[in-house]
Amino acid sequence: MHGLEIERFSTDNHLSLIFRIQTEALKSIHDFLHEMDLVQLMPVILSPITDPLTHPVHDVRISYLGQELQLTKSMIFHKQIAIATLGVKGIYIMSPNVRFELGALEESEKHLLEFTQLDIELQGATAPEFMLLMENLIIHVFSQVKESCEKELDVLDVDLCIPSKPFNVYNSWNLREKYGSDFGYKISMREKDPFWITDFEREFYDKEDPHRRGHYINYDLYFPEGFGEVLSGGERDYEYKILLRKIQERNQDPTHFEHYLEYAKQGLLVPSAGGGLGIERMIRFLTKKKLIKDITLFPKVPGTRIVL
Ligand code: AMP
Ligand code: MG
Repeated sequence: MHGLEIERFSTDNHLSLIFRIQTEALKSIHDFLHEMDLVQLMPVILSPITDPLTHPVHDVRISYLGQELQLTKSMIFHKQIAIATLGVKGIYIMSPNVRFELGALEESEKHLLEFTQLDIELQGATAPEFMLLMENLIIHVFSQVKESCEKELDVLDVDLCIPSKPFNVYNSWNLREKYGSDFGYKISMREKDPFWITDFEREFYDKEDPHRRGHYINYDLYFPEGFGEVLSGGERDYEYKILLRKIQERNQDPTHFEHYLEYAKQGLLVPSAGGGLGIERMIRFLTKKKLIKDITLFPKVPGTRIVL
């Protein structure tokens, strides 16, 4: 080990405090979702299909028995199939995601190559229903952390405010008009509490508003003080014809998604709403650490060599 890593693992740094806070936050997430009667599933790590994302990443494929597999970028397709197949009210997964983000994100302060999503999907839910569940979850987690980690927060000099419901909601089109393309960061600097931004044009599985082409029934949860986006989600499209059209509009190859599309074709997918909350992004906010690598034990920062 050279000096940098030794310093990182010395006993007087903040990592042990941060992981006490993380442990409390994870426990309170499980307690809350258990109380809500959601079913926890194990993560999927390898699959022929994964989230196509809306931003470019380095593509990594693993060949097994002549078949091309990918590491999970998000479990969206598996969530949609699971929620349709299991006949339960809702599911959640602590889902490891690997995204070989482009090196340009090295400076972003909030991107890792490997991170964990709390991925949730609710059968038959609407966007406001999912958003309410998340507001209750955030308030519960923040309250538990504040109560149980008083000493740790004190040493880290964090004054954790418990937000109240309902969180503010902004439309992305209005924000873009007012603040320009960097609207997310700008509004995050102005807000005092977590808030929502709705209606983003993105992946084919997010529900397009049937009455307003090009508008989407989806949302991002943002944290204030410049911490920015912590969750993305939406209501989902699930009908074969709509999914196929949207895949083609994005110049993606429908045959790549054929097993998923087969579920839709047979009418087996169901309406749902959900989202994925970045655990590291939440811990970063709870501990008020600017750099995501400072709350991660073995950080993998885009554009830098991996040490451990
Ligand atoms: P997405 O649906 O792609 O927005 O991902 C859902 C959530 O995962 C985001 O809102 C972030 O909180 C988190 N996330 C996404 N990409 C990364 C990354 N490269 N590093 C850390 N967290 C991430
Ligand atoms: Mg997002």
